Amino acid sequence: MSTDFSTRWARAEVHTGLIQHNVAIVKERIGSAQIWAVVKANAYGHGSIPVAQAALAAGATGLCVAVVDEGVVLRRAGITAPILLLSEQPASLAELIVGYELTPTVSTTRGAAVLATAAATADKVVNVHIKVDTGMHRVGVSANEAVSLAQFVKSYESLSIEGLYTHFAVADTPSHPANATQLTAFNEVVDAFTKAGIQPPLIHAANSAAALSNADSRFSMVRLGIAMYGLLPGPGVSEFCAGLIPAMSIKAKVSAVRWVDAGEAVSYGLHRPLEKSSLIATIPIGYADGVPRALFGTGFKVLIHGVPRDIAGTVTMDQIMIDCGNDSSITVGDEVVLIGRQGDEVVTVDQWAAALGTIGYEIACGIGARMYRNYL
Ligand SMILES: *Cc1c(COP(=O)(O)O)cnc(C)c1O
Repeated sequence: MSTDFSTRWARAEVHTGLIQHNVAIVKERIGSAQIWAVVKANAYGHGSIPVAQAALAAGATGLCVAVVDEGVVLRRAGITAPILLLSEQPASLAELIVGYELTPTVSTTRGAAVLATAAATADKVVNVHIKVDTGMHRVGVSANEAVSLAQFVKSYESLSIEGLYTHFAVADTPSHPANATQLTAFNEVVDAFTKAGIQPPLIHAANSAAALSNADSRFSMVRLGIAMYGLLPGPGVSEFCAGLIPAMSIKAKVSAVRWVDAGEAVSYGLHRPLEKSSLIATIPIGYADGVPRALFGTGFKVLIHGVPRDIAGTVTMDQIMIDCGNDSSITVGDEVVLIGRQGDEVVTVDQWAAALGTIGYEIACGIGARMYRNYL
């Protein structure tokens, strides 16, 4: 949907050098474990192909995605690194998975059997990762059935067990007791595999928060998502995230200005009458681009001329109006920063998230397909 050019006065700027910086920082902190970069959801809104390329250049050895389409996009861009699908996929996609040499997750015998048939038909041996549910209860084979699933997988010559993994439910709260419970359960599965003579080369459990905060969770590989983008997994791990730098800014230019009288209100619903005559600046970006409609009224501010300014009325699909008070210096074409730095001021994804009662992940992924992404 987005083109390779932009006619719009609104864009995301993605600094691939900062993606590399963030990967390098994590790499230095986690020792010998491999980094597989999580680029699902269009790389958390940053653009999956450039982010994948940057992460691999910075030392990541594999990639992770949520759905088959995301893996196909990367293969078609010429990326040859391993691409792990983070959960079992519909049986109808087995041929596509094998054809594009994606690395499937297996957590059921039925899923394994379908992949084995597709692999055998294509005369290939497919690497798979077995996912174990150790307490999050989203996907994965239960811990006490993991060895028998692995033995079932091993019975197929067309499948090879490359990985064994799990996923934490509360990694962003390192002191939560469930982290230790899940880790113990996972270690017991790893031991049971060893006893059964099955030793997958890649053992992994950690997302960003766990990788940075808990050395015991790193095993031979970590799945690095949010931290690679320079965003916090959660407030509970901020002390472990020092040095990470957000890689994406959202900028627009003022597209129209007008003086609006005291007592008049702005935008759909005419919700907030102005207390005094004010310069209203319109910017051509809206909720279709991922600026949530709910931001109006939260106290959230954007930057113009280095000054934080209020949203004057309801965020519309394609445009937002900004209350510039009595500042008559603002004109069409002036830069507006919605996320990022301007002068001494900075607006962060986490500020948006806090204003909206959500997490940075949701803000970043929400940056829409219509948004042009400029890579620096
Ligand atoms: C999304 C995801 C990750 C990445 O998590 P971050 O917190 O962004 O690092 C890792 N593993 C699985 C299974 C995921 O779904």
